[in-house]
Amino acid sequence: MTDCIFCKIIAGEIPAKKLYEDEDVLAFWDISPQAPVHFLVIPKKHIPRPVDVTEPDERLTGKLLRIAAQMAKENGVEDDYRAIFNNGAKAGQVVFHLHMHIIGGKGRPWPM
Ligand code: 5GP
Ligand code: ZN
Repeated sequence: MTDCIFCKIIAGEIPAKKLYEDEDVLAFWDISPQAPVHFLVIPKKHIPRPVDVTEPDERLTGKLLRIAAQMAKENGVEDDYRAIFNNGAKAGQVVFHLHMHIIGGKGRPWPM
C-alpha cells in the first residue's frame, strides 16, 4: 500500500525506532507515547483493520502476541502492560494498517 504510513515504515521510507524485525513482523516505538512504554507491533502484510483478519492470517496474528510479550519482557513491563487493537475510526483507529499497541508501565490506565 503506497499511501500507508506503516507500509512506508516497513519499507524504510519513513524512519522509526525499531525494537524488533523479522520477515513477518515489525515492532517500533510509538511516536506519541501514552505511557512509559508504548510500542506498536505490526504485521508486514498490509491488513487494514482487525476485522479484516482472515483464517490464513491466524499464525501471523498469533505471532504478534508472542513478539509483543517478548518485547514487553525485554523492556521491563512483563507484569504491567495492555495490548490494544483499535478497529475503525469511531474506536480511535487513525492508521489503517493492523497494529497492536503495547502500553506498559503505567498501571491500569483506563476504566476498561
Ligand atoms: P491508532 O489510533 O490508529 O490505533 O494508533 C496509531 C498510532 O500510531 C498512534 O499511537 C500514533 O502515535 C502512532 N503513529 C502514527 N504515525 C506514526 C509514525 O510515523 N511513527 C510512529 N513511530 N508512530 C506513529
Ligand atoms: Zn500498510
